Amino acid sequence: MNQTADVLIVGGGVIGLSLAWELAGRGTNVRLLEQGQFGREASWAGAGILPPGNLDAAVAPEDRLRAFSHQLWPQWSQSLREETGIDNGYVACGGIGVGHIPGISENPRDVAGEIAFWQSERVPVETLSPDDLRRLEPAVSSEVRAAYRLPRLAQVRNPRHLKALLAGCERRGVDLRCGERVCDLTVANGRIAGVETAAQRYAARSVCVCGGPWSGELLRRCGVAVEIVPVRGQIALLALKAPVFRHVVECGPRYLVPRPDGRVLIGSTQEHAGFDKRNTAGAIEELLRFGTRVVPALADATLERTWAGLRPGTPSGVPYLGAVPGVQGLFVAAGHFRAGLQMSPGTAVFMADTILGRQPAISLDGFGVNASHFGD
Ligand SMILES: Cc1cc2nc3c(=O)[nH]c(=O)nc-3n(C[C@H](O)[C@H](O)[C@H](O)COP(=O)(O)OP(=O)(O)OC[C@H]3O[C@@H](n4cnc5c(N)ncnc54)[C@H](O)[C@@H]3O)c2cc1C
Repeated sequence: MNQTADVLIVGGGVIGLSLAWELAGRGTNVRLLEQGQFGREASWAGAGILPPGNLDAAVAPEDRLRAFSHQLWPQWSQSLREETGIDNGYVACGGIGVGHIPGISENPRDVAGEIAFWQSERVPVETLSPDDLRRLEPAVSSEVRAAYRLPRLAQVRNPRHLKALLAGCERRGVDLRCGERVCDLTVANGRIAGVETAAQRYAARSVCVCGGPWSGELLRRCGVAVEIVPVRGQIALLALKAPVFRHVVECGPRYLVPRPDGRVLIGSTQEHAGFDKRNTAGAIEELLRFGTRVVPALADATLERTWAGLRPGTPSGVPYLGAVPGVQGLFVAAGHFRAGLQMSPGTAVFMADTILGRQPAISLDGFGVNASHFGD
């Protein structure tokens, strides 16, 4: 038996690594077990779009978590850079929401409704006429009409961010173990005692399951029925010699993310294909058609690579965050669906407070696991 950890985290994606870094920064003795490699699942595959928010006006718990995270991103990026020397590429590049493009976007788009939503949160949003859009981003097609700009939308290079988190965890003394799949949770007298892998048992005072779409399977083993399913998202990465636009361009679930080095991510699909992470010809063809219609210059770009990741989807679209009732010392932070990168700093701070028994900096009523999630 290994030394007992104060907190054992299951899963080394962006949620588990952020929580480990935050807890270790508060002097907690943390162990993190990852079944594969650290940060190689959805957290690596994601596009890194970080929408803005405003904690003074956000009401719904998911909006509050987005707003809280939005506040934390600049300071987290700076602290990670100072601590590890790794720049995660965080930049407030701004975003443009565009209207329906016939034959490309799936449904007529309610751009006015989206603008009204951002205004209700008192997040800076600018309505763009076709001329404004042309001046701002001349590379965007004149087919694109209704549009607005979110100047505070940011992006991060997730592979770099994960590398920085991993290095930060190492520096803060987290016991990091990859290639260790947790196959069971050990519960004694209604209290968590640790976890089991194929090779050994690990004792812990608290355990937090941050296993993305695999979390449900693990929690079911102690009778907790949280529903988290994998939702595949495919991405195509193109490369231009130099950037031709600088804002993230979003059209419903589809988007273009321009990197400062001339690369452009085109995403993404939402597919229920189990744990299958392969690309399909049809989806990639559709993404490329979308990308080249919105920014015609992309027709000359090189197709560098394609990939897919598995978002952790929940029936309500919001994550499960908090203590698991009935098993003292067991916590869950999983099911962030399309927003896990963006919500990761806020999730880590909220969960660290919750696990350590402190009053969380923000209230997030509505995210918890409740009695209805218990099986018979
Ligand atoms: C194509 C795509 C684009 C996206 N774009 C964005 C975006 O622009 N902005 C945004 O905010 N979000 C985005 N997302 C969503 C975001 O990537 C996810 O919400 C987020 O990565 C979830 O993080 P996680 O740590 O919960 O899950 P994961 O990254 O899946 O990490 C969970 C980890 O737990 C490990 N694990 C699971 N079970 C066990 C076990 N039993 N024992 C040990 N280890 C275990 C897994 O191996 C995995 O490494 C995107 C996702 C995809 C797929």
